[in-house]
Amino acid sequence: MNVILLGPPGAGKGTQAKRTAAAFGLKHLSSGDILRAERKAGTELGRKAQSYMDRGALVPDELVVAMMADHIARPDAAKGVLLDGFPRTRAQAEALDRELARMGNRIDLVIDLAVPDDDVAGRLTGRRSCPKCGAVYHIRFHPPKTDGMCDGGCGALVVREDDKEAVVRQRLKTYHEQTEPLIAYYREKGLLRQVDGSRSVDQVGAAVDALCRGAQ
Ligand code: ADP
Ligand code: ADP
Repeated sequence: MNVILLGPPGAGKGTQAKRTAAAFGLKHLSSGDILRAERKAGTELGRKAQSYMDRGALVPDELVVAMMADHIARPDAAKGVLLDGFPRTRAQAEALDRELARMGNRIDLVIDLAVPDDDVAGRLTGRRSCPKCGAVYHIRFHPPKTDGMCDGGCGALVVREDDKEAVVRQRLKTYHEQTEPLIAYYREKGLLRQVDGSRSVDQVGAAVDALCRGAQ
C-alpha cells in the first residue's frame, strides 16, 4: 500500500506519518527530512536545496523527484511508502505516477489533513525539532518531558530556521499556490480522503488509521 499525506506545513503530517507508518509497516519518506539530511551531510543536492528552503520556496521539481524516486525504489520501501511532503506540485505528482507505474505500482490513498492557516502558523512557530532523531514537539501542544530537550536523550531541541515567522508566511503562500491544487488532482482520480486535522493528535491519528485500514 502506498499512501500520501497532503496538507499545509504544520498540518501534522510528520507527527501522524511516524505513527501510522509504524502501525502499517510502511516506509515513512519525508522529503523535508531527506533534504535536511542532505544539507547536513553537505552533499551537492543539499547545497543546491539550501537557498530555496531557507526562503520558504520549493526546491526545483527535477531535484526532488530524482531524490524521492531513489528512496521509493530502495528495498526497505518494498512493502509500501507513506509519503509526507511529497508530491508538492502537479509536476511532482505526475512524475510520481509515472515512476510508480514503471515499477508496476501505484498510489492507493491520499489523505488531506485540513487545518486553517491561523492554526498552522501557531503550530509552526511553536514547533521544536530534534536535529538528531527527527522527533517533533510543540511548546504547548506536545511539550517534551524536560524543557528544550529531546525525550529520546539526544540533547537540545532546535527551532528550524524556516519555522521563524517571516518564512512561515511565505511557506503558507507557497502551499496555497503550488500544493493545494493537488487536492483537486487526487480528487479527480478518486483517491482523496479529507480529515479534519485541527483536532487532537490522537483524534486525527484515529481517523488516518481508519482510512489506511480501509485501503489495505
Ligand atoms: P513542513 O514539514 O513544515 O511541511 P518540510 O519539512 O516538508 O516542511 O519542508 C521544508 C522545506 O523543504 C520546504 O519549505 C521546501 O523548501 C523543501 N521541500 C520539502 N519537500 C519538498 C518538495 N516535495 N518539493 C520541493 N521542495 C520541498
Ligand atoms: P508537518 O509535518 O505537517 O509540517 P508536524 O507534524 O511537524 O507538521 O507538526 C507541526 C507542529 O504542530 C509540531 O510542533 C507538532 O508537535 C504540532 N502538532 C501536530 N499535530 C498536532 C495536533 N493535532 N494538534 C496540535 N498540535 C499538533
